[in-house]
Formats: sequence, structure tokens, C-alpha cells
Amino acid sequence: MDFHLTHEQMMIKKMMKEFADEVVAPGATERDRNKAFPKDIFDQLGQLGILGLPFPEEYGGGGADTICFAIAVEELSRACGSTGITYSAHVSLGGAPLNLFGTEAQKREYLVPICNGDALGAFGLTEANAGSDAGGTETEARLEEGEWVINGSKCFITNASYAKVIPITAVTSRINGEKEISAIIVPADAQGFSITEPYEKMGLNASNTTELFLENVRVPEENILGKRGEGFKQFLITLDGGRIGIGAMAVGIAQAAYEDALNYAKQRTQFGRAISKFQAIQFKLADMALKIELARQMVYKAAWLKDQGKKFTKEASNVQIIRIGNLHGGLYRSHSDSWRERLYARISG
Ligand SMILES: Cc1cc2nc3c(=O)[nH]c(=O)nc-3n(C[C@H](O)[C@H](O)[C@H](O)COP(=O)(O)OP(=O)(O)OC[C@H]3O[C@@H](n4cnc5c(N)ncnc54)[C@H](O)[C@@H]3O)c2cc1C
Repeated sequence: MDFHLTHEQMMIKKMMKEFADEVVAPGATERDRNKAFPKDIFDQLGQLGILGLPFPEEYGGGGADTICFAIAVEELSRACGSTGITYSAHVSLGGAPLNLFGTEAQKREYLVPICNGDALGAFGLTEANAGSDAGGTETEARLEEGEWVINGSKCFITNASYAKVIPITAVTSRINGEKEISAIIVPADAQGFSITEPYEKMGLNASNTTELFLENVRVPEENILGKRGEGFKQFLITLDGGRIGIGAMAVGIAQAAYEDALNYAKQRTQFGRAISKFQAIQFKLADMALKIELARQMVYKAAWLKDQGKKFTKEASNVQIIRIGNLHGGLYRSHSDSWRERLYARISG
């Protein structure tokens, strides 16, 4: 067993930590209060080459592993939960199904813009009556003269307002009462497709979460993602990877809470000393640090299993647990080449 991060993973950690501290953290509270989507941050992440981090380089991705992805989510979430969930959903829900199941043409057309930052990734599974029970999908699609005609709605969809296409699940046939569920790629500008105003949420207010309505939306037959009838399975596989992102997000937010608590405990004095000197407070802080480290290792393990091509469904389901670093501006604003080259240049410079 080797618990060390690789050189590449350490570079990602350093870069994302510094980006999070310098670019993401400063406006986080204000964005949350104003429900302001962090569009400029995503433009910068696109320029950095981070938006397609775990996808193949031939589609404009970074060719990095899932641990690098988890580290990126963790660091962004440490600075701003809304930025973390936006990034996590963009990669693991939006880009991943296209990468895993898309045809070569679909990857070229839809994955490349996700990697280079021209569009954010989104994924439409949940419906009013299909939440935990994702197979309860009621959205229907019927084939008519070489086109899918789709009717239904989706709810709680992250990034929908910033996506160019959204893969959604729909019932494409019923055989002896059994639903055949397929995934269909729907362009956000298709006639009959509408996106509501973002929800009023209790948190993650700067992230974009909306409802989708599909009224006789027509898309070409070839917009089926991968194979007809495999949509439900494809989306469950996608969710396994998505859980690694959500776990990493929780670790980042918990780390931020811990750092704030630790700093406060050092500043706050009672009875003539900082409260961090009292054992009762030390125990609390030690417990927090311990639980966060355990959670981080669980996330990394699930990510590692995924990278090894091993089963990781159980480990990804178990990571439901639980802020903020210095590369410089020039790096973030660079338009050239891949994140690796920019980072090597930065470190060697
Ligand atoms: C911020 C946010 C972003 C999201 N982004 C997306 C997205 O991009 N795309 C997308 O498709 N969806 C998205 N979702 C939806 C998310 O996947 C669903 O909220 C989730 O599947 C749960 O469904 P539900 O909210 O309908 O809860 P329900 O299924 O109604 O569950 C309610 C409660 O009942 C419990 N429960 C349900 N079934 C059982 C059972 N069999 N046994 C025991 N307890 C049970 C649940 O644990 C939960 O506590 C998002 C949700 C949120 C909050």
C-alpha cells in the first residue's frame, strides 16, 4: 500500500489550493448572499485546462486520474461550496456520461466544448416522482420519422442554465409494462425545451439548480446516448462517479469549517488564555481533524478503485460524510496548452 500522492496529484493539489485561495475564496460569501453564479471563475478554470481534467486529451481533457478530480473538487469546495458542486457536476455528471457512453461523433461534438470551457456539463435524471427511485422516470420519448419527440420534466438539475446540451433519461418504450429507459442528448436551445429560474435553496446559493420542461421537444434519432434502452444503467454508473465528487466536496467544506474553528479557538480568550488551550476544545478539534482525514481517505480510496478499473460502487456510496492556498495570476490567465505544461512552467520558473 502506498498512501502518497503522485507527483501529478501533488501538482494538482498545489495549483487548485492556490487558485481556490486567490480566486475562489475572496468573493464566496458575497456570491452566496447574492446568488451570483461564479461564471468568471469557470472562465478561468477553462483557461487553466481544469474543466476537462479527467477526460482524454484527444477531446481536450487533461488525461488526469479520478484522485486528481477529487482533489480539485475538495480544494474548490474548501473555498466555496457552490463552486465545488458546479465543478463536480460539470465533470462527473455532465462530461462523464458523454465520455463513457458517447459515440466518437458525440464526444467530438459535446465533450470537447465541456473540456475547453465553452459549455458547462449538466445531467437530467431526477423528476418530481423519480428521486431516490430514479427508475420512476415519467418523461417519455417516442420515435417519429427519425426524431425523438420528448415530453416531460426534470427537477433539481445543476448547471442547466449554462449547458449547451443536457443528457436526460426518458422512457422510450414499454414492453409488457416494463419501462425501457434511454438517455437522450437534448440541446438546450431545442424548441419546446425550457429551463426555469433557479430554485431558492437553503445553501449552495451561487450554484445553478433549475427545473427543465420538455414539450414536444424533437431531437434527431442519433441523439440517443450510446445504446437505446441502456439509459438507466448508464446514469446509475455515472452517479457512482458523481458520489466521489460529492464526497470530495463534503471533505473540502469540512476542512474549511475545521480551519475556521481552529483559528477562532486560537483567537478567542477566556480566563486569560486562548480557548484552544482548554482540553475540552482540543478534544473537539482533534475529533474534527480525525473525521475529516478518515473521510478524505475514503474518497481517495473510492477514486483509486475507479482508476484501477475495480468495483467502487459501495465505496463511492460510503463517502457521504461529512476551505482554503498560492500559484500566481499569470498562470490562471494563461490560454496556452495544457494544465500540466503551465504548471511545470510555473514550478520550474
Ligand atoms: C443541490 C442539488 C443538486 C442536484 N443536482 C442534480 C442534477 O444535476 N441532476 C439530477 O438528475 N438530479 C440532481 N439532484 C437531485 C438528487 O439526485 C435527488 O435530490 C436525490 O436523488 C434524492 O431524491 P429526492 O430529493 O426526490 O428525495 P426522495 O427520494 O424523496 O427522498 C427523501 C428522503 O427519503 C429517503 N428515502 C427514499 N427512499 C428510501 C428508501 N427506500 N429507504 C429509506 N429511505 C429512503 C431519502 O434518503 C431521503 O432522506 C440534485 C439535488 C440537489 C439537492
